[in-house]
Amino acid sequence: MIQVQNLTKTYSESKALDNVNFEVQDGEVLGFLGPNGAGKSTTMKIITGFIAPTKGTVKVDDLDVVDKSFEIRQKIGYLPESNPLYSDMKVHEYLSFVASARQIPKDQRQKSIKRMVDVCGLSDVIGKNIDALSKGYRQRTGLAQAMIHDPDILVMDEPTSGLDPNQIVEIRDLIKKIGEKKTIILSTHILPEVTATCSRVVIINQGKIVAQGTADELTAGASGKQVVYCKVKGDRGIIRQTLSEYHPVSSIKEYAGEGGDMHAFALEISEGDGRELVYKAAVSNNWTLLELYHKTENLEDVFRRLTTSEE
Ligand code: ADP
Ligand code: MG
Repeated sequence: MIQVQNLTKTYSESKALDNVNFEVQDGEVLGFLGPNGAGKSTTMKIITGFIAPTKGTVKVDDLDVVDKSFEIRQKIGYLPESNPLYSDMKVHEYLSFVASARQIPKDQRQKSIKRMVDVCGLSDVIGKNIDALSKGYRQRTGLAQAMIHDPDILVMDEPTSGLDPNQIVEIRDLIKKIGEKKTIILSTHILPEVTATCSRVVIINQGKIVAQGTADELTAGASGKQVVYCKVKGDRGIIRQTLSEYHPVSSIKEYAGEGGDMHAFALEISEGDGRELVYKAAVSNNWTLLELYHKTENLEDVFRRLTTSEE
């Protein structure tokens, strides 16, 4: 189990992480989701022991990553965002090099490499120079590097970024296969990534965790909000004021209407069916209701609501 507790990281002036808390259970595939600059890479570098936190702790199986950095590195495989590879080496040479750096005993290295070639689908390129590989194969080579010592935990920073749609599907399938046996944390700013591969999601924005749970919990569950859209003819100020006074209406936004005395509103509803509420309000106030529909948030809506600061 990975426990991230009160994690704060300050780079010179700016706070990249601000009191971050979450846990990852054994066997979970956790999607670490956030816009650019949210703090994903920083968190991953701390979990893998590459940089130290300013405050707070990360424990892997009860071992502190700062105090027990060496033990932790044996348990964790890490594919950094930049996927650093030695481009003038052949795939086989590179994996041999990593196996020796990982101190895999000499008589077991070939077996470890063979296992990675099979798991990551590298047999066609094993004798090729790394700089001649497609981005998809480079990513597979990076994954092989990360897993050659057979760690229980795999940390991958934006593993599908920069790949074409076919390569994305291939790497996702590979991650799914690996995830059947290992604990995985993968970061992404791409939403379908999460629905395709992850069993749970942590959403981070500006260094703070803003939501966590399964995709279903985040959309339909307690934090999932219903939004009712309506177009009403009448006095804008009165309509807005009246609707905002209803208790289940937790926020009200206006969007482009059709001009004149026709006004469009989006109401965030905390409970019950907001359509009924708007309909009844229109009847009792004698407004003309021109449009009325509701939408339950999908993961993209949740992500946008939590990570953008528009009114
Ligand atoms: P993400 O991976 O989610 O895009 P990062 O963890 O890379 O976000 O960055 C979080 C914040 O910390 C950003 O504002 C970024 O500019 C800043 N940051 C990251 N690395 C450094 C660094 N080495 N020095 C100074 N600021 C940094
Ligand atoms: Mg990053």
